[in-house]
Amino acid sequence: MVNNEANTQHVYPPSSSNQGLGAVYHHSFKSMKQILLPIILPAFVFAAQCCFIDKEPGFKDMPKIDAHVHIRTSKPEIMNFAQEENFRFITICNRSDNREFIDKQLVLAKLQQQQFPQTLAYLTAFSIEKFGEPGWEDDVLKLLQRDFEEGAIGVKVWKDIGMVFRDGSGNFIMPDDPRFDPVYQFIADKNGILMTHTGEPLNCWLPLDSMTVLSDQDYYKNNPQYHMFLHPGYPSHEQLIAARDHVLEKHPDLRMVGAHLGSLEWSVDELAKRLDRYPNFAVDMAARICHLQIQDRKKVKDFIVKYQDRLMYATDFGIRDDSNYEARVTDLKQRWHSDWDYFTTRKEMTSPSVRNSFSGLGLDNKILEKIFYKNALRWLPGVFQSTKETNNE
Ligand SMILES: [Zn+2]
Repeated sequence: MVNNEANTQHVYPPSSSNQGLGAVYHHSFKSMKQILLPIILPAFVFAAQCCFIDKEPGFKDMPKIDAHVHIRTSKPEIMNFAQEENFRFITICNRSDNREFIDKQLVLAKLQQQQFPQTLAYLTAFSIEKFGEPGWEDDVLKLLQRDFEEGAIGVKVWKDIGMVFRDGSGNFIMPDDPRFDPVYQFIADKNGILMTHTGEPLNCWLPLDSMTVLSDQDYYKNNPQYHMFLHPGYPSHEQLIAARDHVLEKHPDLRMVGAHLGSLEWSVDELAKRLDRYPNFAVDMAARICHLQIQDRKKVKDFIVKYQDRLMYATDFGIRDDSNYEARVTDLKQRWHSDWDYFTTRKEMTSPSVRNSFSGLGLDNKILEKIFYKNALRWLPGVFQSTKETNNE
């Protein structure tokens, strides 16, 4: 903003003598006003416009996509709420151990997609039941063909591949197992997306009291089966990341979204290395924004500016038919708005996941648009394709 006092001082440098200063000031100001007004006024208007443009956009004004959620309900309320908030969902089918569970999720995803085609899109999954037996590959490809025809835009590989399943010899089945190659190639040929949730946050390999964010502490306290610090015989974080990287390397024509900041949430430098190495790789931020909030603010901001085309906003929000709707929607609303403040403003903030306060990033509008929806439209081919803009179903 133009500061009149500062301008005055600039035009009228302080006199060495106080005597008669008021009169000189008054006289000069009058005549100078006539000269400067045509200059100052447009400058003021321009500055005011800049301030307005620079000001963070209104939450509801910008169309937004939450690119990683789990909508497991047939009820329409959550969809209506998303529309009110100018949000759309990419809902993800999970779990590789159970065809029946995948099918149940698909039924709900398709039902919501049919009723809200402009507000929800979905990714399917495949089961590794009978993996390694003859016919497994054909069966999986047949089902994926069906899913793509019915409207899926991609496929999710969950963390159970690499952390749960073992082959007959007791070795962990890793995401880069060559028996998955025909499946990955099929997804690439369909111009679909492969979403990988490989591994866990690095905290998972640390004792509870060394974990960097409180949300990880809570999660692993309640899910010790996934707390790798307690399971030393399991693959390391490094081995899992290497297996995921190997898939990217083997399939350069496969578009991959690494869920949860590609499990490299602990270091934007490490994530940057993969984004540099693999042009077919983008990441969502689901449930890992707190890990950005504990890293150096300038470093995180520089990272986002540099990789602004490769990052997608997401929460990992989940809802089921038996969920307490009021509680879930309150939680989601709070998260959306708090994340929005983090990316759009520069204010000092706190989060229940983070020990210390941190400052918002104050990103500019062009970057916000990419993170909040344009990148999802670009990286997830076919998503909301027929959409001009919002809310017409
Ligand atoms: Zn998820």
